[in-house]
Amino acid sequence: MHTRRHFARLFAALPVMPAAMAQEAGRRTAGLPKLTIKDAKVIATSGGSEYRWIFLKLITSEPGLYGIGSASNHYQTHAVIAALERHLIPWLIGKDADQIEDLWQSSHVRTYWRNGPVNNNVLSAMDMALWDIKGKRAGMPVYDLLGGKVRDAVPCYDHVGGRDAAEASEAVVRSQESGYRHIRVQFGGYGGGGFIEAGKGSRPEGGWSGAAFDEELYVDTVPRLFEQIRAKVGMAPKLCHDVHSHLTGMNAAEFSRRMQALQMFFVEDVLPPEQLAWYRELRKLSTTPQAVGELFTHPFEYMPFLAERLIDFARCRVSSIGGITPAKKVAVMCEINGARTAFQEGGENDPVNQIAAYHVDMSSPGFGIQEENHFPEAVRELFPGLGEIRRGYLYGSGRPGLGLDLVEAVAARYPLKPVTGGGVYRLDRAMDGSVVKP
Ligand code: MG
Repeated sequence: MHTRRHFARLFAALPVMPAAMAQEAGRRTAGLPKLTIKDAKVIATSGGSEYRWIFLKLITSEPGLYGIGSASNHYQTHAVIAALERHLIPWLIGKDADQIEDLWQSSHVRTYWRNGPVNNNVLSAMDMALWDIKGKRAGMPVYDLLGGKVRDAVPCYDHVGGRDAAEASEAVVRSQESGYRHIRVQFGGYGGGGFIEAGKGSRPEGGWSGAAFDEELYVDTVPRLFEQIRAKVGMAPKLCHDVHSHLTGMNAAEFSRRMQALQMFFVEDVLPPEQLAWYRELRKLSTTPQAVGELFTHPFEYMPFLAERLIDFARCRVSSIGGITPAKKVAVMCEINGARTAFQEGGENDPVNQIAAYHVDMSSPGFGIQEENHFPEAVRELFPGLGEIRRGYLYGSGRPGLGLDLVEAVAARYPLKPVTGGGVYRLDRAMDGSVVKP
């Protein structure tokens, strides 16, 4: 049995480290003092517009040190707010703010049922705020903590549209003149080019009378429109197009085949993402690059798509997949499997998520492109240091952490507006009134 005398003898036998050396070793190994999460706040705002933005502010035990993260979810807004306030925050208070990966992992299983559009928005807010804190503490932008810059800025793709090829071609030229090299072209809303006009055609009695999506019409029309656009603008602009899961099986394959000669940068979601087996078939029939996965809420969902080389671009939104920690893993998976990231942003996205994507992009060889996002002027006051797109490239502020702040007093001037009708995503229907996957 060990006794105090035994330990005293043991220590007496050890070589003695000089006091100055011991102090130096202590500094080297102990790092900064322990940092805990002292408080947390949910900040929801309309951003002076119609946004339903949700942010989490994590306040640490170090005076004045806090971080912000995005939990924005336009369609499940209040579920996310409740999940943050009632379930995440009571668990998170007092935790070690340094342990980002451990907090992500333990939070991921904290709900027992994992992933999903609510849980992973909650994780994202926590994760981004923790990276923001770590960056501010280190005095470095987050991309430096992720391995440092591998590019000078983040290329983004623009959104343009037109009712026909002439209008769309003019819009492509204007976008090029404003500096964009990558341009997504749509013909009205998603599925545009494939709608039979409201009230037209042969329909069931007393049924759906609105514009009706028709797959074969889309497959016939859209590649022809792109042929006309290419004839006008040439092959220089890198064109993208989003099918938004409106097609099925061989129609998606035929669409990709017809688009092949047009050298698209990518076509996106030609099929719903659950149609993995169809993607295997489609891959054999066309070399048109495929972008998939904006609906995914976990990096593991990408595994078969990337490991089997079925897609060229991973399209998730950083805040939907659970934050910077999993997004970096997606970027590494892309790098290893020879694909690229194309983080999804979209019209309702917020500046915190935009800049979180930027930091992953800046540090990732597996990066491909980021979707553009522009915000109304009021947002500048709300987010000092927000990212800026100039001539097709996104730039961060270069400040430590995420590089932008959230002014609570400004957010308070723009409270969340009531969510009417449940806040649902727009739904398209076919001629017989059945739902078309969005
Ligand atoms: Mg999309």
